[in-house]
Amino acid sequence: MAAEQPKPQTRKPVLLSKIEAFQDIVTTAVIIPKEDGVISVSEDRTIRVWLKRDSGQYWPSVYQTMSNSCTCMSFNPETRWLSVGMDTGGISVMHLTQWSLCVCVCVCVVLSAHQGRVLVVLFVLEMEWVLSTGQDKNFTWHCSESGQQLGTYRTAACVSGLQFDVETRHAFVGDQSGQVTILKVEQDSCSMVTTFKGHTGNVTALCWDPGQRVLFSGSSDNSIIMWDIGGRKGTAIELQGHNDKVQGLCFASHTRQLISCSSDGSIVIWNMDVTRQETPEWLDSDSCQKCEQPFFWNFKQMWDSKKIGLRQHHCRKCGQAVCGKCSSKRSTIPLMGFEFEVRVCDSCHESITEEDRAPTASFHDSKHSIVHIHYEATTGNLLTSGTDKVIKVRVPQFSHYSALVLPSIRNH
Ligand SMILES: [Zn+2]
Ligand SMILES: [Zn+2]
Repeated sequence: MAAEQPKPQTRKPVLLSKIEAFQDIVTTAVIIPKEDGVISVSEDRTIRVWLKRDSGQYWPSVYQTMSNSCTCMSFNPETRWLSVGMDTGGISVMHLTQWSLCVCVCVCVVLSAHQGRVLVVLFVLEMEWVLSTGQDKNFTWHCSESGQQLGTYRTAACVSGLQFDVETRHAFVGDQSGQVTILKVEQDSCSMVTTFKGHTGNVTALCWDPGQRVLFSGSSDNSIIMWDIGGRKGTAIELQGHNDKVQGLCFASHTRQLISCSSDGSIVIWNMDVTRQETPEWLDSDSCQKCEQPFFWNFKQMWDSKKIGLRQHHCRKCGQAVCGKCSSKRSTIPLMGFEFEVRVCDSCHESITEEDRAPTASFHDSKHSIVHIHYEATTGNLLTSGTDKVIKVRVPQFSHYSALVLPSIRNH
């Protein structure tokens, strides 16, 4: 296999600034690219705008207290429209005017969108739509100008991942049952197109790359799946690099890197500029597909050959059903998404070269559980907010680098 070396990898993200002073968790924060600012919404009921001063520190410029906790936010930097979801089900659509000396927030429309906490809000400028999902298991869309509700769709479970493709008007809705539903949204109606099933836990985050037409889904099952819609072959690639729930996903399209974070505080930067492979289906067999010894439920063969039945395992590379003895070795298989060492059969272990083992992701520890992540492409900065109630702005430092420390063996 031809190895594309050197691979663009990432150094440890450098911490630029910290923003503290929150009484509670910041549920969403985004970088304002041109003004070098940050907008935050928090469970502590505040909407704040922070602008960077000459000292390099962010200072509060706007401090607006709402009547309830702010659960989510969507900001459009070109128009400065800000939509904030509340835990009582409302969405405030507001406009931020005048940056430099004085910033003011004008609440323009309040949408009564949901019966409970708003989980995700998404402002779509091209359609003048505010899409949202709530604890009431409804996906709704409103006109951002008039505030009128245009339509609603009942989802199977609560939705914590929502993305929209402007070109085809498809909404991607990831829910707590683990599935992603694709909806075709019209002005006042919507219809279900298909569902993607691949996760064994809640879908916690979605990220859509309209350029490559690829959808990433993150889950509480610790995995990320890349659904290649543009490729039209039904390819779904798994990425296994987290030891805890995936909480947020961002795609840096200019470097083709996926940034993911999880509740154990780890940030993983994936090189998506490599040809990745799908993981094989696990094969069924009554005996080891290498040494032919029976598995423990195969009483007939155990009796005939006077052998004790063995436990079944599966090689992650070829998918064959093998016994423990024939799969005693472990390896990473980065191009199959296994950045941790996994069980492989002896023959697959021999076939994996050092080049094949070159990592395609880098791992960083932010020390605190991350609840939200935002990558801003024009500044190249990465923002995280965590359970420590602190916003951190980092530079991921894209460069050629490959000396990475891998986490130890996970489960098998
Ligand atoms: Zn065997
Ligand atoms: Zn194998």
